[in-house]
Order: sequence, then structure tokens, then C-alpha cells
Amino acid sequence: MPSPLVLPRRIRYDVSEMKVKTFMSPRGTLPRGFPDSVRRIVGDEHVSRREADLISYSLDYWLYGIFRSQKGELPALPSAIVSPASAAEIQEVLRCANDYGVPVTPFGGGSGVLGGAIPLHGSIILNLQRMNRFLSLDEVSLVAECEAGIMGGNLELELTHRGYSAGNIPQSLFCSTLGGWIATRAAGQFSTKYGKIEDMVMGMEVVLPDGDLLNIKPVPRRSVGPSLQDLFLGSEGALGIVTRATISVHPLPALTVKQSFVFPSIEVAVDVVRRILRAEARPAVVRIFDEAESERYFTGIGRKVTTIFISEGEREYTSLDGKVIRRISRENGGKSAGDEPVDIWLQKRFDIGLGPLLMQHGGVVDTIEVSALFKDAARLYTDMVASMKAVEGVLEVSGHYSHFYPEGACLYMTFAGIPEDPLRYYRDTWDAAMAATLRNNGSISHHHGVGFWRMQYMERELGASGVKLLRSVRGAIDPKGILNRGKLVDDKEEQRA
Ligand SMILES: Cc1cc2nc3c(=O)[nH]c(=O)nc-3n(C[C@H](O)[C@H](O)[C@H](O)COP(=O)(O)OP(=O)(O)OC[C@H]3O[C@@H](n4cnc5c(N)ncnc54)[C@H](O)[C@@H]3O)c2cc1C
Repeated sequence: MPSPLVLPRRIRYDVSEMKVKTFMSPRGTLPRGFPDSVRRIVGDEHVSRREADLISYSLDYWLYGIFRSQKGELPALPSAIVSPASAAEIQEVLRCANDYGVPVTPFGGGSGVLGGAIPLHGSIILNLQRMNRFLSLDEVSLVAECEAGIMGGNLELELTHRGYSAGNIPQSLFCSTLGGWIATRAAGQFSTKYGKIEDMVMGMEVVLPDGDLLNIKPVPRRSVGPSLQDLFLGSEGALGIVTRATISVHPLPALTVKQSFVFPSIEVAVDVVRRILRAEARPAVVRIFDEAESERYFTGIGRKVTTIFISEGEREYTSLDGKVIRRISRENGGKSAGDEPVDIWLQKRFDIGLGPLLMQHGGVVDTIEVSALFKDAARLYTDMVASMKAVEGVLEVSGHYSHFYPEGACLYMTFAGIPEDPLRYYRDTWDAAMAATLRNNGSISHHHGVGFWRMQYMERELGASGVKLLRSVRGAIDPKGILNRGKLVDDKEEQRA
């Protein structure tokens, strides 16, 4: 059982000596009486206002925020870190926040890459990492129940030693939580077989913004009106706090088949994967790397389009899966590169690359993941590369398809630049990427979510009526705008009571 996060108690910092600058939100002050009320709920040692803790919880993995923080400026500082141990405590904290009008930002692992967990408007951080218990495994129904603050790595550890896996293995496995996955609609690397997190969640418990508790029981399917569960998948901490969830699990595979092929172009590789999925093969992992990423990633392959496949599961099906992939790849111009590229990928799949290092030397780096139908998928890649490379200050743009479905794919782009004006380069590259996605009928996000930074593109994704509907839902369940203010969809002042 992982030990709960305990904030250090003995270290003292002289707050007045530290001059932390913030560039998105000024420091907030808490109303008199609020800190004491919250201390009574969660215990004195689970409320921290120490400067070092405030700095630690001031940002997530939004790379532009990290870029600026390396220059001594943080996006925002929370007013306090509150670490509850149960849904009942969260209920009371939210009631108290409503009474005092204090905004609350839920914080899982802080690995979100769009600024979703940044505490804007002087909010407090609601740190969910003490709620990290693995609760139960039902081996008959193949479901497991956990508290939402459990880290992905610990969840997998609990399952694998019992002979199972959740099948959700994001690159951030060891620094993200189950609740964070649900709140962002995360995708693991094995998604072609097991799906995204929204395909895995069977039921959940949620504390609503006013402190009420909602229980959605775990069943395989239901027909009781619109899915309430879907309201919280991708809710990004703005509609409720997910406190526990029941997810599907899978027996560990009896057989794993690793294969890779090089193809003459991205177009050919994408079309081969389309044919493979149409033939009902279901590899767990499918990735197509463009020439630049193949050269960076796989020693010995050079500038060639490389595709890797991992099939896994029951022996007979898995072996057949491997055969179908091999036949269709070869029939369509693929040359086998063996299983070595797959092993290299398996070794490097949790690495974060050289981005943070480049940023220390003035570079601006980020990743953008979008999705599209097969008919648009290859054209989208060509358009995104051309559009993002046209931005002044660019050093490199590369991409890979990281997730596949029978209908289409997720395209994952990485860009780096050493510009004179970092914010301008960052914004112009994002604008170029989002425009290319939309004109190729794609969705502006496949799994990273909206957070703060992508909010500016939401109207072009959802349309004015979509944004209005989302705002109305939020306004109806959180009239005081307590939860994750300034994220997901801009909350115009008139929306709040
Ligand atoms: C190196 C790296 C690799 C990554 N790889 C992947 C990947 O392969 N696939 C992928 O999908 N993402 C990936 N990400 C992005 C990130 O890990 C995911 O978005 C993840 O789901 C965030 O989980 P978290 O617990 O860190 O959430 P946080 O960053 O803490 O929070 C994310 C959002 O969810 C809200 N939130 C958190 N917990 C809860 C809760 N219990 N209830 C309600 N709201 C909550 C927060 O307020 C915030 O808005 C990667 C990030 C990094 C840094």
C-alpha cells in the first residue's frame, strides 16, 4: 500500500524574504476564518500555507509555464494546500469554500500539460494524493475500485501482482492519478486494444461543487437518460471532484508479439494501419513515427517512416493478430525491421526527452495531440508540419501517430524553437496547429484536454452554442464558480451569481 503524502512540518521558510513573481494571477488572500474552518475539517497538518509548498503546487506540466518558471516567474500561487483524506472531508471543504467564496483547484499528480491544475484567482489547491487506496478487485466481473488520488504506477502495481492490468499506461504513468485521467479523458499507450479511460470507467463517486455526493454505480451499460458519468469524464476539475472510480481490468497477457515495419511514406503507413484494423486485428500498441522521429528514436533505422505494433492477450488470438499485421504490412510495401525498434520504444516510453534541458537554454518546446478520421489523417500531418514550420523562430517540428481506432487516429506533434519572442512563437505555433487541425476536420485535442491554454480554441471546436451549453451546465451546478475557475471554458462574469 503506498504511503500517504505527508507535507513536511519542521522546515521553516521566511516568507517575507521570498519574492515570487506571478504572471497569470496575482496572489490571493483567504478570508478570515476560512483557514481555521478548513483545518478543523482535514486536520492542522493537512493544511499548508508554507511558501515552499505554495510554490510546489503552483503549476503543473504546462511547458510554457515551466519555461517562465525557469526565469523566476510562476503562473500563479495558491492561497493554501488542503489535503483531505475522504469524500466526506471534501464535501465539508467545498461547503466551506462556498460559504466563504473561496475558489478551489483540484490537484491529482500535476502532470497535466495545459495548465489545468494551476491555481488561478488565488484559489486553494485541493490535493487528492492522500486518497490513494486500492479498494477492491472483482475477479468475476473483471473490475477494480480505487480512490481517485492513486498514482497510475501504484494502481498497476496493485493489479499486476494479482495477475491483472488496467491497460491504461500513459507516458505519465508514474506521475498521474486515476482522478486526473478521468478529469482529462487520458489515453494510455495500449489504447487500440483497451481503449481510453472513458472506455474503462464503469462507475464513480463524485463530490459536486455544492458538497453533495453523487454515486454512479458500476454496471456494464445503462439506459436511464443521458449519461451522468460522461459529465465528469473530461470535466477537468470544473464540474466536480472525482473521489473514487470502478474501472475494467484485464488478465495479464499470455503472449506478446512485437513487430515493426518501415514504409515509404506516412500516407502508406496510415493506410496500412487502416487496412489492418479493418481486417479486425486489434494490436494493443500501434505507432507510426515520421522520418525525423524515427531517426531520433531508433538507432540504425535512419530517416524512414517506422511503424511498431504490439499484439497481446490470449495465445491463439494474439498469434493470429500478429499474422494479420505481418501479411497486410508486407502486401502493402512494408519492410520488416524486426522487434528491436519495439524493444527500444518499450525502454524509452516513459522518458520525457530533452525538452526541459532545451528550455534552460532559451528554447520553447511543447507537444500537441489532435485526432481525425482516416480520410483526413495523412493530409492533417502534412498540413500541420508545413504550418508549424512556417512560424518564425522554429527549430524543429516532428510527429507520430500515437493511438489508432478502426475509424481514425491521434496525431501527436512536437515542436521546438529558439525565438526572440518566446510567447509570440508559442502562441503562433499553437494557432497554426489548431487552424490546420480544424481545416482538416480534426478535433483540437485527443487526450491532453483543455486546461487553461486550449480554452481560447474551444469556440472553434464546439461552436458558440456548444460553449454556451457547457457554460450553462457549469453555471447551474456551480453558481458561485468555486471549482477550477478560469479553466475548461471561460466563465464570463455574468454566468456567476
Ligand atoms: C511526461 C508526460 C507524459 C504524458 N503522457 C500522457 C499520455 O500518455 N496520455 C495522456 O492522456 N496524458 C499524458 N500526459 C498528460 C497528463 O499526464 C494527463 O493529462 C493526466 O491525466 C493528468 O493526471 P494528473 O493526475 O497529473 O492530473 P492533474 O495534472 O493534477 O490535473 C489535471 C486536471 O484534472 C483535474 N483533476 C485532477 N484530479 C481530479 C479529480 N480527482 N477530480 C476532478 N478533477 C481532477 C485538475 O483540476 C486539472 O484540471 C503526460 C504528461 C507528462 C508530463
